[in-house]
Amino acid sequence: MPVIGAHVEARKGLWNAFRNAAAIGADAIQVHPTPPGFWGSPKPSDEDVERFRQEYADAGRPPFFFHAVYLINLASDDAKVHPRSESTLAGYLAAADRLGIDGVIFHVGSHRGIGFEAALPGITERMRRALERADPQHTRLLIENNAGTGGCVGARFEEIRAMVDAVGDPRVGSCLDTCHAFASGYDLRTEAGAREVVDEWERVVGLDRLDAIHCNDSMSGLGSNRDRHQNIGLGEIGEEGFRALLHDSRLAKLPFILEVPGFEGLGPDAANVAILRRLAA
Ligand SMILES: [Zn+2]
Ligand SMILES: [Zn+2]
Repeated sequence: MPVIGAHVEARKGLWNAFRNAAAIGADAIQVHPTPPGFWGSPKPSDEDVERFRQEYADAGRPPFFFHAVYLINLASDDAKVHPRSESTLAGYLAAADRLGIDGVIFHVGSHRGIGFEAALPGITERMRRALERADPQHTRLLIENNAGTGGCVGARFEEIRAMVDAVGDPRVGSCLDTCHAFASGYDLRTEAGAREVVDEWERVVGLDRLDAIHCNDSMSGLGSNRDRHQNIGLGEIGEEGFRALLHDSRLAKLPFILEVPGFEGLGPDAANVAILRRLAA
């Protein structure tokens, strides 16, 4: 059975994520260590690192990821955005590596009309430089697929593959978001559909380059290019698709991380974790 986890709050100390995850029954963790709508990267003190590492060990080292800020854009030709995006990503990687966590998940950003092929060399160069600056020994840099809104790169699996290949660094992997894939036209609604999408990912990107699943239902329809997450089973994907993904043996070792609105509107909750466990049983 895959590890079922959730995006949780980590206010007033990253170690609070362990308690917040335990409170809803999540066995894998993602946090925003800095506010996602603002520039910035986490800068834990030596004492913070020590305390985090202690509590991480006490919690049994669950899969643990940072989600980087949304402002990062490695794909645009705006010369002001590049240095900030690169240093923010490097800061995230360096902090994640000091803390010993598994990965930094990020959105590559929008090419703003120049097209993926034209944007690829710049993306490659900036990802390489962020890796060079942080030089993580353990933490991986994970490209998340997106919903295909407004020129955002990485909606098609072929683009994920092209970026991973172009950077050519074994520390680069990926994260597959089910809501984003569905909004980009990958039909996850049925058992056969879900299997075909995983087949396609396996063929195009490779399962050895897949580190995590973002497990979200979708409020918007197939191919809508709209990124609106919904609680599991209540959206356009529905339970059958999630049951199939949770039972696909190729994904059995991966963390399935919820980023759903929750039934109280406060984010991933025990009810959504319970739904995934029921579907995975
Ligand atoms: Zn994301
Ligand atoms: Zn996501």
